[in-house]
Amino acid sequence: MKTPNGEVLQQTQRALELIGKKDLNDDEKKQLIDDTVKNFTDYVNPGFLSYRKSFSPDYAAVEWSDSGNTFTCVKGLEYIDCLGGYGIYNCGHRHPKIMEAVINQLNRQALHSQELLDPLRGYLAKILADLTPGSLKYAFFTNSGTESVEGAMKIAMLATQRRTFIAACGGFHGKSLGSLSATSKAAFRKPFLSSLHNVRHVPFNDIDVLEKTLWACQFTGDDVAAVLLEPILGEGGIIVPSDDYFPAVRRLCTKYGALLIVDEVQTGMGRTGKMFCIEHWGVEPDLLCLGKAFGGGILPAGCFIGTEKLWQHLFANPFLHTTTFGGNPLACAAAIATINVILEEKLIDRARIMGDLLLSKLKAVIKPYQPDLAVDARGKGLMLALEFIDSDTGFKVAKGLFKEKILVAGTLQNAKTFRIEPPLTIKMDEIEKVISALERVLKDVSIEMKQKPVPSLPVVPSTIPSIMESSKPALEGKLSNMTIQFNVLSRQL
Ligand SMILES: *Cc1c(COP(=O)(O)O)cnc(C)c1O
Repeated sequence: MKTPNGEVLQQTQRALELIGKKDLNDDEKKQLIDDTVKNFTDYVNPGFLSYRKSFSPDYAAVEWSDSGNTFTCVKGLEYIDCLGGYGIYNCGHRHPKIMEAVINQLNRQALHSQELLDPLRGYLAKILADLTPGSLKYAFFTNSGTESVEGAMKIAMLATQRRTFIAACGGFHGKSLGSLSATSKAAFRKPFLSSLHNVRHVPFNDIDVLEKTLWACQFTGDDVAAVLLEPILGEGGIIVPSDDYFPAVRRLCTKYGALLIVDEVQTGMGRTGKMFCIEHWGVEPDLLCLGKAFGGGILPAGCFIGTEKLWQHLFANPFLHTTTFGGNPLACAAAIATINVILEEKLIDRARIMGDLLLSKLKAVIKPYQPDLAVDARGKGLMLALEFIDSDTGFKVAKGLFKEKILVAGTLQNAKTFRIEPPLTIKMDEIEKVISALERVLKDVSIEMKQKPVPSLPVVPSTIPSIMESSKPALEGKLSNMTIQFNVLSRQL
């Protein structure tokens, strides 16, 4: 015990009072900002502060509340959310119907007994079986995306008795040991290598390399349990594959006896203009992983869903894979309400319509700045991205937008590309605000670039990923203080 219990009790009391407060006076605001900065420095990780400092104009934008498509900092500044919590807020912030479901459930029972049958888990599993493509039928509920991927990988190993996986360069699947093996960014993997699973990585959207790798694995006896892919690379820079890619992946998986696991943690729940992104190509996966928006932006929730054929391996001993909190009544209430809201408010159509509109506007806005400043606007539905000539420029534009009270963020692979993933509930006037702010920021950045030319960063070839690693240390040194983490792994086409 480093501090007397009485003092700790007082600290908890002060925090509880804060939670109970609706508004803060000026002194309380200042205190809260100072406390947060100090606590992050001393007890969370000071790295986060330098990482965020350059992004917020006044050093400490401490968040306080959110609603609809915006969130508000302690100082009362309201930001339009074009980051969507990396894909959490498909239904907007604190959607009243999802809140109501969770509060009603909370008022009756929060967590389950672990022994009696919990009804909401049953209802949610049946709803998902009806909603998901193909013969996906049985669901296992988790607390996060990485757990969904872990579980799917385990069941693939169990069902195929194989141990090798294939994932994509640019893919992101989480950071616990199993899912990290499939995640592709070297900086995240290297410190943990040799403890990771046997995962081969192939360039995304390249069917020939996938086929050769499947063949080579079969040839050498490293038969592939599953091919694990995001339908659209999210953290890899919003890379949409060609329309014939996934149908071909499906055929190859079947040919080589490998399962197809689609990681829809970010693309799922209506984000791309279909409930599940893989439906764009009429492909039936063997396993589908969800997370992020699955809990409606209210609670952490995830799941993986598979065919009856796969689940049979769990029937005899359901305890082969378990979790204490996964599928708890609060999370299930949130997920059921989320699906209700997505369907009732036609958020899937909305993602498609507003996405097409926003994308065409983005394309028009960047046009005068191509190719010197901006490279591309792309995406599907409301999973969109802007790509700039280099990380410096992408960061400058993102920072400029933040000053205009619009939040966007880079992708984990790539700072020169930042995502635009607003809630699917984003309104027309909010889109207009984003576009006019972007117009102003691009103008400023281009003037600034003309006045003071940025020292050119190493040019990264987009087709030979292995070469990119060599320019990484130089780049990372130069940009180490940036908000957006990146890897020089450029987009692969
Ligand atoms: C975010 C993400 C994950 C990991 O989810 P966590 O909840 O952060 O563990 C996995 N896969 C994809 C595609 C993601 O975008």
